[in-house]
Amino acid sequence: IGALRWHFLLQSLDDLQKNLCQLGSCLLVIQGEYESVLRDHIQKWNITQVTLDAEMEPFYKEMEANIRHLGEELGFEVLSLLGHSLYDTKRILDLNSGTPPLTYKRFLHILSLLGDPEVPVRNLSAEDFQRCRPRDPGLAECYRVPLPVDLKIPPESPSPWRGGETEGLQRLEQHLTDQGWVASFTKPRTIPNSLLPSTTGLSPYFSMGCLSVRTFFYRLSNIYAQAKHHSLPPVSLQGQLLWREFFYTVASATPNFTKMAGNPICLQISWYEDAERLHKWKTAQTGFPWIDAIMTQLRQEGWIHHLARHAVACFLTRGDLWISWEEGMKVFEELLLDADYSINAGNWMWLSASAFFHQYTRIFCPVRFGKRTDPEGQYIRKYLPILKNFPSKYIYEPWTASEEEQKQAGCIIG
Ligand code: FAD
Repeated sequence: IGALRWHFLLQSLDDLQKNLCQLGSCLLVIQGEYESVLRDHIQKWNITQVTLDAEMEPFYKEMEANIRHLGEELGFEVLSLLGHSLYDTKRILDLNSGTPPLTYKRFLHILSLLGDPEVPVRNLSAEDFQRCRPRDPGLAECYRVPLPVDLKIPPESPSPWRGGETEGLQRLEQHLTDQGWVASFTKPRTIPNSLLPSTTGLSPYFSMGCLSVRTFFYRLSNIYAQAKHHSLPPVSLQGQLLWREFFYTVASATPNFTKMAGNPICLQISWYEDAERLHKWKTAQTGFPWIDAIMTQLRQEGWIHHLARHAVACFLTRGDLWISWEEGMKVFEELLLDADYSINAGNWMWLSASAFFHQYTRIFCPVRFGKRTDPEGQYIRKYLPILKNFPSKYIYEPWTASEEEQKQAGCIIG
């Protein structure tokens, strides 16, 4: 993972540590390979129970199985809880058995049979927190939250996104105060090139476990219950959360979900291999200002709007460069704050018309797409300041300006 996400993780741990301290408890961060960490600490600290988030990603499934074996060997109980998703994907898949592949419509139908997701498990009491305080105060210093220097990453993050539950809850509250906005939210009408996010911007907080998706789900349900009308899935806010669940469900049932080869839902396409073009796309040097501005925002901030993701994903794959979605997915995995095994791969397959959606001729134009919502090109001027003096009529295609106009704008197009 890239430095931005490391920073986001450290900030999130720091915030968790501060919040636990206020409750009379504290957080001990142990670094290392999980098996040896457990072997070293189980007896030393007399640990009787290990809890973890249930996950559908193969790496974590394997980790859970290994920890269970270790529990049998060393004599501790393992409690794996569903926290990262709204539903247990196994239950959805059981109800779908016999009729794969799962479509979003059918998925919603199955959810209607299951009813609302379970509410969060339970709240801990003040005594619970106080009991979770190590008797030796020296431990807290020994097992402190690592600093960027410990991880050999730059000391400061250039990203405006700050990790942690406190920040995540603030963002949540800010959005939920505008109940009209929440009730009428229609994803395709949100703007990919606004200077501040036009959607909730909560994905990094869900992804890092700072914010509970169930809290969000139920807060939305309460607002919908009070509204005369509200938008519906797939375009509503709750619909967005359900897309997340949809990709988790399909990923948990699909072998090799993050690959083309050996992936039963993915079209097998002979993509080009072109390291130079891939590098130019990744480093914001394609020459298309709209595409390069988005990739610059991604590199500097770690978050881009969903439709901006559409634009650059289509450009890399079926739209222009004909390079495999797997390459794009890897770049997103490194650079996104919200990088997620299932959602990332699922959306890349969608955008490249490899799975779920196959109208591969429905292409986003790298010039006109951005122009629709930002004709003056403010977004491009912000992220590609080299172009900031171009007149608006050229900002999306500066190569059409005359040499004289390019000179006046202080940037000659090569
Ligand atoms: P909002 O519109 O406010 O939605 C609220 C929440 O719903 C999001 O925080 C997110 O958890 C969920 N959500 C929204 N859209 C989707 C979607 N299409 N699929 C699944 N869940 C969704 N999202 C990730 O969280 N991690 C990824 O790695 C990721 N990779 C993507 C790759 C590509 C090529 C594309 C096209 C999309 C990807 N997305 C990914 C989905 C989506 O773009 C982001 O979740 C969304 O833009 C986050 O912004 P938000 O929190 O403001 O979303």
